[in-house]
Amino acid sequence: RPQAFPYDHLFKLLMIGDAAVGKSSMLIRFTDDAFDEHIQSTIGVDFKVKHLELNSKRIKLTVWDTAGQERFRTLTSSYYRGAQGVVMVYDVTRRDSFDNLDHWLKEIQLYSPNSGEGVVKLLVGNKIDLPEMGGEHERQVDRDEAEEWAREHGMLFLEASAKTKAGIQESFMEVVYKILEDP
Ligand code: GDP
Repeated sequence: RPQAFPYDHLFKLLMIGDAAVGKSSMLIRFTDDAFDEHIQSTIGVDFKVKHLELNSKRIKLTVWDTAGQERFRTLTSSYYRGAQGVVMVYDVTRRDSFDNLDHWLKEIQLYSPNSGEGVVKLLVGNKIDLPEMGGEHERQVDRDEAEEWAREHGMLFLEASAKTKAGIQESFMEVVYKILEDP
């Protein structure tokens, strides 16, 4: 029997964080299960769509990427409008990308309706494959420190790698679960 709507819920998620931390790569890994080491920093996809089924609910997920605008350190309020979830990303081998999280949190509070109160927020430390391989890239942000920071700010937390797939599926699913939990 044809159904009136192809989904039960339509959710909008946003990717934010410093340039080159791997936001686009995480999104492409999640939606296309692909990874390209040689992409230019910030490919700049606008958004991608993924259909899921969770708890017998069909979900249409649109995930928005900054398309390089984060370089100017400011995304407009239209980017934040209507989002139920935000995935905030830093690079575990770049301390500055972690220190800038305060800036990104302020942006959410400034631009989201209700100062971002009703928005599900997830912090992701990406590129955990780099320090594991040894060599030039050392870890600059401890897992414990990041987890504590996320807890202080009422955020979920995970570490991930768009390259190895570790934590990628889990990241997006955590946010969707949480949105479904408290609509
Ligand atoms: P964005 O600017 O935050 O969207 O970052 P990109 O997705 O454009 O990624 C920036 C660079 O980091 C690219 O060269 C990616 O190939 C690389 N990259 C992204 N995620 C990972 C990861 O998990 N591990 C490794 N080793 N490199 C990554």
